Amino acid sequence: MAFQFLLLMFFLFCSLHAEDPYKKLRELFNFNKYEDRIFSIQDIKNPDVLIYSIGKSFGGRNIWCIEKRSRYYGIEKEDKRILILGTSHPIEWTAVEVPMRLAEYFAQAKMDEIEHYATFYIIPIFNPDGFDYMRVIPVFYESNRKNRYFNPEEKNPGIYKRGVDLNRNFSYMWKFLIADETSDYYQGPYPFSEPETIALRDFVMENKIDFVVSMHTPGKLVQYPWSYTREPLKDSELIEISRRIASIIGNGYFTLQDAVNYEKPGSEIDWFYGEMRIKAIRIEIGKDLIDRRLGDYEGIKKAIIWLSDCYLKNDSIVE
Ligand SMILES: [Zn+2]
Repeated sequence: MAFQFLLLMFFLFCSLHAEDPYKKLRELFNFNKYEDRIFSIQDIKNPDVLIYSIGKSFGGRNIWCIEKRSRYYGIEKEDKRILILGTSHPIEWTAVEVPMRLAEYFAQAKMDEIEHYATFYIIPIFNPDGFDYMRVIPVFYESNRKNRYFNPEEKNPGIYKRGVDLNRNFSYMWKFLIADETSDYYQGPYPFSEPETIALRDFVMENKIDFVVSMHTPGKLVQYPWSYTREPLKDSELIEISRRIASIIGNGYFTLQDAVNYEKPGSEIDWFYGEMRIKAIRIEIGKDLIDRRLGDYEGIKKAIIWLSDCYLKNDSIVE
């Protein structure tokens, strides 16, 4: 009996100390650490940088925006503004880290005597609950792409998979395609049913924005609308901008209309472009969901600077 008890204790001990193969990856998904980085941008004491929350997530976390005003802010015609939106899909860590670094770079830029033309709004973590959940999710869930979660100890073991794919929850051409709330692609019961998408919608409606770059992973792609249909986009300028951005990033990036892979109604870029009439693209960064080396960061930074200092400054793709 004593032996059996000891054996049982031994197995319990082993299972408690079994190495989690995702331990190192989980450490990347720490919302509090990102908040600390966002707050430390304030330490730069750049008077043109504002940091504020655009609203709260389902779980009550702030959705932070770093605003870096250009000298043309508020001056009619010359005032151009770019929104850089971090991924809504929690697993796509690179598409949080790249906007975070861009925020750190642009906040510092003027202090380094480098001025950029456009005003930037950067939202690195659009889905804070889903992002932070990657640290504690019972099974490191590689396709986790949704916003909220429930207590995994609830009686129904599948319940922690409940949540909404925010990139299917926007109103432009939204469709109720999936009724199963545990589906990775659940679009929500109706458009803008989620606090995160509502916060972004209201923010965009209250601010003049000229261009949106939404970031996801992976694919080495620069995608342009439409997401909901394969009918070709009739906007040769936006297609050309996408091509230019792909070629500046280099490293094998190419362009594609979003729906060409598969049609996805209710996407972010369709709402920006179709509903709000704002030019919008999505960059699918890298060849993996997570690229800890950030191999494409410098190329993306160059492309964003081109967008600001060439395209928006000259109001033309011709330099
Ligand atoms: Zn994504």
